[in-house]
Amino acid sequence: MLNIRFLGAARTTTGSMHCIEFDGHRVLLDCGLLQGHRKEAFEANRALPFPADSIDAIILSHAHIDHSGRIPAFVKAGYRGPIWSTSATRDLCDAMLRDSAYLQAKDVEYVNKKRREQRKTPFELLYDIPDVERAMALFRTFEYGETREIVPGLKATFHDAGHILGSATVALDYLKWGKPRRLLFTGDLGQSGEKPFLRPPEPVEGVDALITESTYGDRDHPADENIRGRLRDYVQFIVQHRSKLVVPAFSVGRTQQMLRFLDELRASGKIPQIPVYVDSPLAAKATEIHRKHPECFRDGVRSILASGGDPFDFPGLHFVGPVQESMTLNSKPGPMVILSASGMCEGGRILHHLKNTIPDPLNLVLFTGFQAEGTLGRRIVDGAPEVKIYGEMYPLRATVFTINGLSAHADRSGLVAFAKSLGPSVRRAFCVHGEEKYCEAHRQNLLAAGIKRVDIPEKGQLFEDV
Ligand SMILES: [Zn+2]
Repeated sequence: MLNIRFLGAARTTTGSMHCIEFDGHRVLLDCGLLQGHRKEAFEANRALPFPADSIDAIILSHAHIDHSGRIPAFVKAGYRGPIWSTSATRDLCDAMLRDSAYLQAKDVEYVNKKRREQRKTPFELLYDIPDVERAMALFRTFEYGETREIVPGLKATFHDAGHILGSATVALDYLKWGKPRRLLFTGDLGQSGEKPFLRPPEPVEGVDALITESTYGDRDHPADENIRGRLRDYVQFIVQHRSKLVVPAFSVGRTQQMLRFLDELRASGKIPQIPVYVDSPLAAKATEIHRKHPECFRDGVRSILASGGDPFDFPGLHFVGPVQESMTLNSKPGPMVILSASGMCEGGRILHHLKNTIPDPLNLVLFTGFQAEGTLGRRIVDGAPEVKIYGEMYPLRATVFTINGLSAHADRSGLVAFAKSLGPSVRRAFCVHGEEKYCEAHRQNLLAAGIKRVDIPEKGQLFEDV
């Protein structure tokens, strides 16, 4: 009998974790960090739902921290089983979990300073670098299309989810009352149109039950944003005015997408060759990892590699090294493009670039994704006349743009199209990884598409005999 207990990303988007109970074994689908409100997240991430050594295996859909970020905490608590993922996901996790450990150490330091002032017991670190290293030693890799037995009687196959490098949907095959059953976990699904280097999500046959993400369950991405045309205009503007284009970008995915767009525009003569700086150590590492995994690319991009080219390098591109080198960009004249993290401007080297560029009306700032409330990115997008950076106020005179269509997630139509691509065999679905109203919107769309039973699990809810 196969039961599913939904432990995270239930009526919310972070902390992806679902426990499969099969014939006395426990298998976790994802083991993600809960992000968001600091106090709640701190406590929730520290409370394990059951003893870590009672889990037999972890299957990881992709490397994003809200899907992978609690793995070292389970290892710290005694988990010693295998962690199954694609090899690209493993390589990204090695960089991202180390980064996560570093960010958490900084965060705990900040929180504990306050707690000591209030005479409260300080929080313990969720995990540190040695825990990440112990976790990395437990990874076992799958290639797309490969099938393996995870625990006796339960087999898993990974298919391309087209979300980030190495992302996978996971099909689980088992027998229910002697008959074959297939449960598909989508992880996060990518967009289906032509993308800078990833493929669209791969359809899977014979699925009986579906656990589907619902991030954009109620909305479509803007129809035609003319991303290349707009980017060309921005670059031409900074060339003409010898100014700077600053792009706050997530280190994994968004940065590499931007590099592909800039390379295409340059190669087709639409923009001249100008200096492009990638200024984030994690982005540099992630780009290096992308180069090692051509099995994740669409054909056109794979052929660049096959003919000896590099899809993530072009004349004028520089990866900035130590922070001193990053500082020298402040005094260099334009034109130049600076891609830096973090994507929502909550920390990292982007802060000093913004501080130095936003007071000049000839500079441009380009946001490439959603800016959460309360972040510096959001205040800039909202057009505050001045913003605080490192404790000082700076006038915002640079022009600010946003391109939304670079999202790594399928939109409403994409989610429905993926569910339909599975065919009529799907008899039930579970909507996860979305705010409650988006899960409800996706539920209605799936019912309309002919799936008979669709549930929106609550955190901790158990569904028996799926
Ligand atoms: Zn993701």
